[in-house]
Amino acid sequence: MGYSKRVAGIARDALRLILEACKSTHPKEFAGLLRSDGRLITEVLLVPGTTSDEGSARMLLDMMPLDISIVGSVHSHPVHDLRFSEADICMFGAKGYYNIIVAYPYTEMDWACYSPSGERVNLPVVEA
Ligand SMILES: [Zn+2]
Repeated sequence: MGYSKRVAGIARDALRLILEACKSTHPKEFAGLLRSDGRLITEVLLVPGTTSDEGSARMLLDMMPLDISIVGSVHSHPVHDLRFSEADICMFGAKGYYNIIVAYPYTEMDWACYSPSGERVNLPVVEA
């Protein structure tokens, strides 16, 4: 699978939706898939059944159907830690180039985007 689908950034509305979802799921882990309109990440597909324990949200991600407009993943860390785990980076490559981690307390400062190899990706927040 290639990672040719690049975007110019993430729409601010999509980021806000992600942060709200993280807050409402806390202290459980939130997970979703990032969808692009071809230019920006504009949509988040919530993974159903996030009433799971930490870690299970990632497994549910693996069960989500393949969608051509999916460009990556997002999940939350209920602790204030933006570093990815071994399990995280294994999952990153399967979902696309952009992999967002949001850490407690889920403000607009509490997230980072990683490439499948675990490098930080600059993902501008764009007013769509
Ligand atoms: Zn994680």
